Amino acid sequence: MNILVINAGSSSLKYQLLNPDSGELLAKGLCERIGIDGKFTYKPQIEGKAKQDAVDVAMPTHSEAIQTVLNALVDPVNGVIGSMKEIDAVGHRVVHGGEAFSKSVLITDEVMKTIEECIPLAPLHNPANLTGIRACQDVMPGVPMVAVFDTAFHQTMPAKAYMYALPYEYYEEDKVRRYGFHGTSHKYVAGRAAAMLGKDPSELKLISCHLGNGSSVTAIDGGKSVDTSMGFTPLAGVLMGTRAGDLDAGILQYLMKKHNLTIDQMLDVLNKKSGVQGVSGVSSDFRDLEAAGHEGITRAALAVDMFNYGVKKLIGSYAAAMGGVDAIIFTAGVGENSISQRMAIASGLEFMGVKMDAAANNCRGKETVISAADSKVKVLLIPTNEELMIAMDTAAIVSGK
Ligand code: AMP
Repeated sequence: MNILVINAGSSSLKYQLLNPDSGELLAKGLCERIGIDGKFTYKPQIEGKAKQDAVDVAMPTHSEAIQTVLNALVDPVNGVIGSMKEIDAVGHRVVHGGEAFSKSVLITDEVMKTIEECIPLAPLHNPANLTGIRACQDVMPGVPMVAVFDTAFHQTMPAKAYMYALPYEYYEEDKVRRYGFHGTSHKYVAGRAAAMLGKDPSELKLISCHLGNGSSVTAIDGGKSVDTSMGFTPLAGVLMGTRAGDLDAGILQYLMKKHNLTIDQMLDVLNKKSGVQGVSGVSSDFRDLEAAGHEGITRAALAVDMFNYGVKKLIGSYAAAMGGVDAIIFTAGVGENSISQRMAIASGLEFMGVKMDAAANNCRGKETVISAADSKVKVLLIPTNEELMIAMDTAAIVSGK
């Protein structure tokens, strides 16, 4: 079975063609500048097939972008499949499913309507995701399509975890609550953790740390998300590359008055100029910060310290929330690659049964147990693979599993 995975943005579209059973990636790439001029990148993963790197292809709409992807995939010379018939289904990443979707679903007219109703919750992302779906329906009529939501995995959170302490009508009428994001990633690594530990997910209490440019930490009890650090929007939780994370809402009024800022300008600061970028004044990239820290730039070292401390506190609070933890997972750019940050986050947690193995931790980007053999709580490095998770969900739905 081959699944085409689509992640559509307003002027871009990322794609992968994969086999969800074997995990084999056949091709991946990107359409950019859709509606402007059009740049196409194609990376076949089969030996001897030529790639294309940001070549000019006219893409007035997402439909031409999808058609360009299909043409490349079935190209007699550099394609990876014989014909479009070899694409069994399409899995679409959709950012926000609100309270309507607690799992991935086959796309119907009704589902499209409900995704539209969630637009106010993700005004930048859901319209682009819908455009991607419509373009695929246009170019690939009859091929089953599945929507996989970033928020769905977290719909199992209990009310005490997802409610904000605001007047209740803001929840009832305006849908203001914690939704959580990165759900596809947290679900994927939780599944891999259970496989690595040889246990059923229902037996495990896990804390998944998705640490990248955007970061979130999730408590997963018995295979279900029970709390997560991102909130109504992906601005909440631990500080991130350029996002502030949790902060005292009173700061907004103080700064807006003092600097005569509009709410949009304030949000721009919180989303794009804060986080480790804002604190360090150096970069939003953790590699740059590590290097700058070594050169004695104290604000860079402080930003990394604040980040590590924030993640450590979330691990402690989620262990308390679940009444224990069997394994802590590190994933995404920082979690998979930063040896020093994993060590800084997980050290000092010996009181709760976490003992790192420095030699095992000295690795990057492959599934590894990085805790000591006698550590009560296992610490796992697991590379995330959101596209594979989307393909797996899509395959399960279209084959009726
Ligand atoms: P992501 O959003 O998951 O793609 O992660 C991006 C982040 O991962 C960036 O801040 C990178 O600096 C960080 N990253 C990637 N490689 C490393 C590394 N070797 N050490 C520290 N951070 C890294």
